[in-house]
Amino acid sequence: MDVSLILDPLNDAQREAVAAPPGNQLVLAGAGSGKTRVLVHRIAWLMQVEGASPYSILAVTFTNKAAREMRARIEDLLGVNTFGMWVGTFHGLAHRLLKAHWQEARLPQNFQILDSDDQLRLIKRVQNDLQLDEKKWPPRETQWWIGAQKDEGRRPQYIQAGGDQWLQTMVRIYFAYEEACQRGGLVDFGELLLRAHELLRDNDAVLAHYRRRFPFILVDEFQDTNTIQYAWLRLLAGDQCHITAVGDDDQSIYGWRGAKIENIQHFAQDRRDVQTVRLEQNYRSTATILNAANAVISHNTGRLGKELWTEGEEGDPISLYAAYNEQDEARFIVERVKDWVRDGNRRDSVAILYRSNAQSRVLEEALLREQVPYRIYGGQRFYERMEIKNALSYMRLISNRDDDTAFERVVNTPTRGIGARTVDTVRAYAREHGCSLWQASRQMLQQRLLAARAGNALQSFLDLVNQLAANAEDKLLEAIAEDVIETSGLLEFHSKEKGEKGQTRVENLKELVSACRAFEGIDVVEGEDEEERPLLDQFLDSAALDAGEGQADEFEDAVQLMTLHSAKGLEFPLVFMSGVEENLFPNKMSMQEPGRMEEERRLCYVGITRAMQKLYITYAENRRLFGSETYNSPSRFIGEIPAELVHEVRLKTEISRPLFQPDYGKVGKLSDPPPDFDDLPPLALGGRVEHPKFGEGTVIQFEGSGPRARVQVNFDDAGSKWLVVAMAKLQPL
Ligand code: ATP
Ligand code: MG
Repeated sequence: MDVSLILDPLNDAQREAVAAPPGNQLVLAGAGSGKTRVLVHRIAWLMQVEGASPYSILAVTFTNKAAREMRARIEDLLGVNTFGMWVGTFHGLAHRLLKAHWQEARLPQNFQILDSDDQLRLIKRVQNDLQLDEKKWPPRETQWWIGAQKDEGRRPQYIQAGGDQWLQTMVRIYFAYEEACQRGGLVDFGELLLRAHELLRDNDAVLAHYRRRFPFILVDEFQDTNTIQYAWLRLLAGDQCHITAVGDDDQSIYGWRGAKIENIQHFAQDRRDVQTVRLEQNYRSTATILNAANAVISHNTGRLGKELWTEGEEGDPISLYAAYNEQDEARFIVERVKDWVRDGNRRDSVAILYRSNAQSRVLEEALLREQVPYRIYGGQRFYERMEIKNALSYMRLISNRDDDTAFERVVNTPTRGIGARTVDTVRAYAREHGCSLWQASRQMLQQRLLAARAGNALQSFLDLVNQLAANAEDKLLEAIAEDVIETSGLLEFHSKEKGEKGQTRVENLKELVSACRAFEGIDVVEGEDEEERPLLDQFLDSAALDAGEGQADEFEDAVQLMTLHSAKGLEFPLVFMSGVEENLFPNKMSMQEPGRMEEERRLCYVGITRAMQKLYITYAENRRLFGSETYNSPSRFIGEIPAELVHEVRLKTEISRPLFQPDYGKVGKLSDPPPDFDDLPPLALGGRVEHPKFGEGTVIQFEGSGPRARVQVNFDDAGSKWLVVAMAKLQPL
């Protein structure tokens, strides 16, 4: 039997794990040491040498994409197909089990998965029925709480509320919610896992069947399993199964979502004769990148302790760029991406990573501007995000009450007691009378065609929009956006959501305010295509266009943007870690909760170790994010990288020559008499200037030349603005 295809591409330690006789294994090793490779080759080995049928193998991966890749890789190695093998995420596998055993799981055959938004709606209905005031019992909080119970495997009947009134109420809702789900044949994400666990626990025959079927279970990214996932694994495995778990305690980044690093230690205690394999050679990154990662993570305590080394070349130093602000940062990154592509590299060899979802907006805009195709991995583009579309809908109504799409979107968002039935009657009226929903509402209210409660609710919505419109008169775009997200209640609505999701939505909404401010800066002073249309309309168009550009399609070569969290397990020749600043990364919240700082550092370790050849780290001295301006210092994590591994990019000094020379060739073609270029001041990036209206500021960007040359100036009081140099009367100081 020729096993060289399986073993040759491995080092000794990897081979030891792959070719071990069937048993329990724990592969505990740092980033890029080939854990995922070991898992794949182990499966191939089991099939080829131990004669395991694909039917007897179950593998758990971190994403569905990883599952597909795993299959492809095995089929490649063995030249056979993997039909019958179960490969997927915990949720995917649980779903599959429940589909196969819906009766034993006490589910209807066609049960539906309830996504997080549907779940919230259901919880509201349930609370309504129980006559629990949403203000006092925010449904988002309930949602979060129920999710946490399920992750821990707790059903309501086993929760001891004692005399705790709050807990008693939560348990009451949990009961009622469960009942509603059961009645409707609905299963939320947490329920998938919990139900799959109970299915095996309560049905001996089913359990026995799967224990017989799967003598081999393999789990990637084991450090991020939560309580119920691990319980499910243990149950399914029984005593006889051979489990291969691979993971890295230094890459545990989902503690905030209930993941338990301790599962690694439990595994070694729970299972018999565990073979522990450590892999220490890194094959992914240059020595420089690896050393940086090692240095950073060494600041954490209580690690299981692993060393990583590489035979690879030293490689380029890590480039560190201190940007003036987020715009400058984005511009810098996009320029480097363009250089990289110009050198003959593919765009999909580049990843731009960030800590918080809202950071993508500025990066997206810079990429769009430069026409660099990009894709947001595991997420949506900024202007396609639900909360942004909602806020924009209010802004659209301000500008045009007859915008039916916008009306439908937000008439009951945030919820104000306007039910689907009311909207249906309004829609019917509008159709009959050939008018907009807004007109229909007004007429129906005037004629008292609606029941009192629904009527009042609808009236309050119309009042709200009119109010927003009145507030918007003569206001700066930024102020309009700010008013919209506050007065509409969207901000409050999302800030009540517990957990990362609500936080992200709040951040995105505030980021919309930043977007408006930036848009304002561009338009106010451009002076060229001096359109008469209100700025609000121009902004809405531009947002719609941005959204409409759509993601690069699946096969187009595109730069990948993603959060640090979703980058886990992936690798890219060129990586940018952006926004590496105190308060952003490490995240502000991690400073308050114990243990979170170390989790942030692990996230940093994950980020650094995604890079194969070249890593850029960027931070902005001044950042407008989430709608407000901050001055953060560089992240502590930067300080933890040994200085000799880092090269500071000094763009400022490189370009601190006059920005542009008058371009007489171009000027000559203009019909208008050109301004006198000889008098133009020599502006420099980073230089201080004074403007007659905006006061003093710093030049932070420039583009174009001759009469079209524009600079972006960050004014001390007026914020950042783009100015056409030829017209702006800027004086260098
Ligand atoms: P992470 O912790 O980030 O998930 P990992 O430990 O799973 O990383 P892999 O993704 O399996 O690491 O491997 C990292 C890179 O090193 C991959 O490109 C892989 O193909 C390569 N690699 C792994 N082992 C070897 C080897 N023995 N020889 C050559 N290349 C290897
Ligand atoms: Mg991996």
